[in-house]
Amino acid sequence: MISKKMLLWMIVSSFAAVLCLSCGKTERDGQNLIVSTEATFPPYEFRSGDKIVGVDIDIMQKVAERLGKKLVVEDTSFNSVITHVLTGKADAAASGITVTEDRSMKVAFSEPYVEACQLILIPKGSDVTGAEMLKNKRIGVQEGTTAYDYLRENVITDKTSSLISQFPNPSLAVEAMLAGKVDVVVCDQDPARMLYANNPDELILLTEPLTKESYAIAVGKDNPSLLNTINEVIREMKSNGELAESFRKNEALAKSMTSETPVSK
Ligand code: GLN
Repeated sequence: MISKKMLLWMIVSSFAAVLCLSCGKTERDGQNLIVSTEATFPPYEFRSGDKIVGVDIDIMQKVAERLGKKLVVEDTSFNSVITHVLTGKADAAASGITVTEDRSMKVAFSEPYVEACQLILIPKGSDVTGAEMLKNKRIGVQEGTTAYDYLRENVITDKTSSLISQFPNPSLAVEAMLAGKVDVVVCDQDPARMLYANNPDELILLTEPLTKESYAIAVGKDNPSLLNTINEVIREMKSNGELAESFRKNEALAKSMTSETPVSK
């Protein structure tokens, strides 16, 4: 079962996100670099105390420093991060975003900074051994993500679409699975690894990669100079080891929180 601490943390984080949404009218006065994210996706973005931290945040902090601006991170639903860029509410979206054709029609993507894939999480005792067994299973995914795209393209038929449940974040999907409401969760590999690390006695993480994806930062198509700076920073952080260090630091932080405070929201 998910611990009481985890439940409490999920409630507090959701409440904080709602508060942030309702007060989220940050002034775009040119002094701020406003970045939209969904802060329940360790190690890319997650809450540590009252701060949002993670690999995406480290990248964007460096971009802000280079531009002489203050980084302002807006926490919202994953479905909204690209919309915030399109409506001018944010300068960029940094949220473990997979580059897809659909999204590329709307926003400009930076160079990729990591390769990723979707993985399957199941409860101990499940009969699922791989992707070929997903048909006719009740599957939980985070809404608006490439996990859902994968299912739509490869698994769901008109008859089985009702078997898919979408959740605001992967840990709520896992919560539903442990409560017996879905059979399987499909989720990006790094958060899946973190969720597994959080519940090794109850979960199994299958290692078969279902997809091949690249994460990148999204900006408006009308903002090539911001895109250039982001690309410069990504290239630099890749070549001088800062990006690898950011992964090490944030994974360790997210895991250390697992023992005291849950990493999932
Ligand atoms: N990489 C996935 C996507 O882009 C999920 C991202 C997320 O949930 N933060 O759809």
